[in-house]
Amino acid sequence: MGNRMTSINLLDLSKAELSTLLADWGEPGYRADQIWSWLYRRFAATPEEMTNLPKSLRTRLAEETRLDPLTPLTTLDSSDGQTRKTLFALPDGPQIEAVLMRYEKRRTLCISTQAGCTMGCPFCATGQGGFIRNLSAGEIVAQVLYYAQALATEGQRVTNVVFMGMGEPLANYTATWAAIRRLNDPAGFGLGARAMTLSTVGLVPAIRHMSHEPEQVGLAVSLHAATDELRDKLVPINRRYPLAQLMQACRDYVNTTHRRITFEYALMDGVNDSDEQAHQLADLVGNLLVHVNLIPLNPTPDSPYRGSSPARVRAFQSVLERRGISTTVRLRRGIDIQAGCGQLRARYRGESANS
Ligand code: SAH
Ligand code: SF4
Repeated sequence: MGNRMTSINLLDLSKAELSTLLADWGEPGYRADQIWSWLYRRFAATPEEMTNLPKSLRTRLAEETRLDPLTPLTTLDSSDGQTRKTLFALPDGPQIEAVLMRYEKRRTLCISTQAGCTMGCPFCATGQGGFIRNLSAGEIVAQVLYYAQALATEGQRVTNVVFMGMGEPLANYTATWAAIRRLNDPAGFGLGARAMTLSTVGLVPAIRHMSHEPEQVGLAVSLHAATDELRDKLVPINRRYPLAQLMQACRDYVNTTHRRITFEYALMDGVNDSDEQAHQLADLVGNLLVHVNLIPLNPTPDSPYRGSSPARVRAFQSVLERRGISTTVRLRRGIDIQAGCGQLRARYRGESANS
């Protein structure tokens, strides 16, 4: 395959860009359709597999482009076999994670949009690790294609994609939305926009921007606290976009899109999990069209925060339910494989350092 660092990543090209490239190479127009289908419907890993292309074109693709932006480094399966996490290396070295969660009918992928994160949430392994760089659209999509290819060998497919892995998707807006469109393309991967959910720490201008995108992607907002005083600590970007601004952007989003927002609330022992705080949360979301996802915190080694007890989780949930707010408790899948955001990378580092 071509030089990894300098050649074109085929997965970074839009369909129009691929067509232009092939036209420049003097190829007929239908070649772009053929290659598109190999990439996004048949998950070809090399140009050599694209058997309906002439040999000369396959050779040129192999010399001048690449489509292996991710190298799997290590894979962990949860003890129940339902969750699989893969740590990948990007061509220039940074590591990212993607997680496959098997539910009864769904095959949900949790993917990364950045190597690291600038937001510095103190309970999050990714935040603790600092920021390296944004992923390209191709690097985001490649995580999905990797698992799609693996599932295809079992006669299964990816049914849902959540942008909840490493990084803040709305801080890498252009590449994230290019990836969403690529995955949504009916002539390509063909995943319905409603089968995708983007989770944000609460970047207000980008939430407003997103409300005008035509694709009906689900929005999840990581709240974790219902007062500015506490949220300033848990989610430092709150100092820039405090709750009043964030909630106004959420109200406007619901009014514009008529879609429900999910609020994520990671329950931390003795920090944000009292009945009083549940009432504050209910007051904050008020009559907004929302769903609250309660997640007992998955503790990371370097942070003082601990997950709430199951009894406290239930008590917190019942306050919200009594206040008429729809909730679910999301048990973190695959705790035994460090499936929390950024945790496998942190562990892999630790092990490499110890060995
Ligand atoms: N940056 C985005 C998306 C990636 S994080 C965001 O913050 O929303 C995805 C979700 O995992 C967020 O709700 C985040 O707060 C949560 N999260 C991060 N670390 C966690 C941990 N240790 N335990 C439970 N949830 C965690
Ligand atoms: Fe970044 Fe999200 Fe982790 Fe905060 S929770 S540091 S925004 S990845």
